Amino acid sequence: MASDHHYDVIIIGTGAGGGTLAHHIAPSGKRILLLERGGYLPREKDNWDSRSVFIDNRYKAACTWEDKEGKTFHPGIHYYVGGNTKVYGAALLRFRKEDFGAIRHHGGVSPAWPITYDDLEPYYTKAEHLYQVHGEHGIDPIGPPASAQYRYPPVSHEPRIQELHDDLKRMGHRPFPLPLGIRLHEDRREASLCIRCNTCDGYPCLVNAKSDAQITCVDPALTYPTVTLLTHAYVSRLEVSPSGREITKVRVTRHGVPEEYSAGIVGVSCGAINSAALLLQSANDKHPNGLANSSDTVGRFYMCHNNSALLALSRHPNPTVFQKTLAINDFYFCTDDWDYPLGHIQMLGKSDLEQLRSGVRPRNNAGSDGQAFSRLLADLGRST
Ligand SMILES: Cc1cc2nc3c(=O)[nH]c(=O)nc-3n(C[C@H](O)[C@H](O)[C@H](O)COP(=O)(O)OP(=O)(O)OC[C@H]3O[C@@H](n4cnc5c(N)ncnc54)[C@H](O)[C@@H]3O)c2cc1C
Repeated sequence: MASDHHYDVIIIGTGAGGGTLAHHIAPSGKRILLLERGGYLPREKDNWDSRSVFIDNRYKAACTWEDKEGKTFHPGIHYYVGGNTKVYGAALLRFRKEDFGAIRHHGGVSPAWPITYDDLEPYYTKAEHLYQVHGEHGIDPIGPPASAQYRYPPVSHEPRIQELHDDLKRMGHRPFPLPLGIRLHEDRREASLCIRCNTCDGYPCLVNAKSDAQITCVDPALTYPTVTLLTHAYVSRLEVSPSGREITKVRVTRHGVPEEYSAGIVGVSCGAINSAALLLQSANDKHPNGLANSSDTVGRFYMCHNNSALLALSRHPNPTVFQKTLAINDFYFCTDDWDYPLGHIQMLGKSDLEQLRSGVRPRNNAGSDGQAFSRLLADLGRST
């Protein structure tokens, strides 16, 4: 193999995992190759257009996957330099200390992790500083211990959200500022990258003010001459040595052309599903169930966010522009009348009609639920 195809480290995927790893090891002087199946997310006005983003799915991967019944569906996944962080909501919370132990849920026991919160704590702190997280440790009553404060103050509540915060406190709840990775300087708005707009959560950031993995990690890593990024480089298979213990080749397809690379260390950071898929599709005689899969659990037990959005229709106007600033963990572990964890509650970003429509499935010829919803909103508007 030509030596220009051999590196010290190959990192597959440039999202939160791969991008952050690249940023951390870039100064080491090692020759590092980043392989990313996507390209750069285009910067264009459509970045902030709800219809393009949520109805036309302009930035989602066009692929379809199959569920266990063989039914096809479109995964809400994004293949870009920066991975899914290009559209994420940038709410950057730590797990609780207890999350690493065995937890009894309504549906069964979630077993303990092989590592503890204390093992990860120093890395949480580093990541919070790197991703410029704004927040305040010590207010969330069940917040885990932090060895250092966030470097940036919490994002302020707009008046309606402050009102909500104060009402919740009066009721005995303990809301806290949602930690956010955005490049906002509220005391120097003229110099702030973030303009505190209503197109953040779920949208790409047109002004690059979201701490996504491209802006925060990959771009700075690429300033080192020893770091190389290949975009549109889909990794299809990892080959192993006869002993089965080393990866000898990383097989890549770029613009339909097969290529191969090798490295002393290969990091697989293609996201939860695609990392598992790559390990499984690299099965060979030594590893008939796929790589790193002696447990036979690779690709199983995957859990996406189990979340719900709750919408309140109120006659009390909510002119808030950037509302994703408040969170509550009062029901995280249990409540007086429920013994199992109920989880975390946070504000979502500002939702407009297109966003709400995108979450509603069309029904029969009586029109879509989206149309019904529009009528409901119009009626509500008339009656207020
Ligand atoms: C709309 C949305 C909102 C979200 N909001 C939040 C939030 O507020 N807070 C939060 O903490 N998390 C949020 N998330 C989740 C968060 O974005 C992910 O948890 C995180 O990006 C996962 O990082 P990752 O590196 O594992 O994978 P990804 O970020 O998905 O990166 C994987 C990368 O690998 C590449 N890749 C995949 N397969 C291959 C292959 N075979 N060859 C080469 N490259 C490959 C992909 O193109 C991608 O760039 C959100 C996600 C979405 C979609």
